[in-house]
Amino acid sequence: MPRKQIKRKCGHIENIYLEDREFNDPAALKHHEDELCEKCYVSTNRVCEKRMSYVDYKIEYISCRTKEGSYDEKNKTIVVYVPYDYFLLGTL
Ligand SMILES: [Zn+2]
Repeated sequence: MPRKQIKRKCGHIENIYLEDREFNDPAALKHHEDELCEKCYVSTNRVCEKRMSYVDYKIEYISCRTKEGSYDEKNKTIVVYVPYDYFLLGTL
């Protein structure tokens, strides 16, 4: 996956992984710029880290954020920040 420096809305700069299709897509980049950086996101949201298969993430947790650089290519897993609300709603 290609990497690119993104300036988040909180003002911090992150060097994030992008999907190939996002790299030259201004709308996709804007979407990333409109989010908090990972540190600010984790400190302002009640989330817990959960490692899961990439397929599960794509199907059930696509609206959740993932931990930067956590994708494990060998096992096809990724660390997802799952909001505590997900547990309360019984979606797990
Ligand atoms: Zn930040």
